[in-house]
Amino acid sequence: MSSEQGDDRRDRVEQAAPGIQRVKTRDATLGEGMMIRRALPTVHRRMIGAWCFLDHFGPVDVREGRGMRVGPHPHIGLQTFTWPVQGEIVHRDSLGYVQPIKPGQVNLMTAGRGIVHSEESPTPRPSQLHGAQLWIALPDAQRSIEPAFDHYPAVPVIDDGQARVTVLAGEALGERSPVRVYSPLVALELVTEGEARIELPLRAGFEYGAIALAGAASLADQPLAPGSLLYFGVGRERLTIVSDAGARILLLGGAPFGEEVLLWWNFVARTRAEIERAHATWAADGFGDVRGYDGERLRAPALPWATQPAS
Ligand code: MN
Repeated sequence: MSSEQGDDRRDRVEQAAPGIQRVKTRDATLGEGMMIRRALPTVHRRMIGAWCFLDHFGPVDVREGRGMRVGPHPHIGLQTFTWPVQGEIVHRDSLGYVQPIKPGQVNLMTAGRGIVHSEESPTPRPSQLHGAQLWIALPDAQRSIEPAFDHYPAVPVIDDGQARVTVLAGEALGERSPVRVYSPLVALELVTEGEARIELPLRAGFEYGAIALAGAASLADQPLAPGSLLYFGVGRERLTIVSDAGARILLLGGAPFGEEVLLWWNFVARTRAEIERAHATWAADGFGDVRGYDGERLRAPALPWATQPAS
């Protein structure tokens, strides 16, 4: 998370149309060598509402190798939101939860003041792994709450013949997701098979962003395929989505967050001092333990700024 060298090249961002920004995702490595596309944060777009992190992993064949292997690591100040579209992932955390997740389901981990978790492909595992993992920054009033974990076996799905719309978080098309969030936001997945045209009502007070998990579509006349994020500023009341041959689109929105957040490694904080405390807590094993993960816990990288000597 800490290194974004090489990411400030001007060719990674483009003003696609008035109020619409196109930002290229960047390649990153997750856990033991799984390549992913990171759409948030980048130097050109840090957040969309409270959404502050968006990884698109796969589709990848995980029959060879060990699949997803992300050893125990801590989080503070955020919620992790996991949405697999193919395959299966096993979550373990320091509260004692062991929860496999499959397509159509949501795992939501509220880190609050601190939690540790691991994620791995199950054994035996389905051949394909594909999905998204997001982080939601917690507002100041909730960012130090007790940690929690929730598994949602289903979220609302609306099929109007043009598209299958899943309300992952927030409210849309008269349906509300049960996923517990702490700021005004929305996440939708839109799946079309073949030709489709969708007129989606938006909230003018929200900013929005979208990636394609698969296929291709145009959003407000802007083409979108895996590898870039389209960002739509506030003030838009509808979004026209057109697909010719099928697409799977992830649309995020939210009220502009309004708090400056400091994101480093797996921590969402406000100040360097808080990050330093979390770093020291992790080094001293103070966030708790994950049981049953067959591997090492992750080490935090060195802090990128000079710290005071301890004595
Ligand atoms: Mn994590």
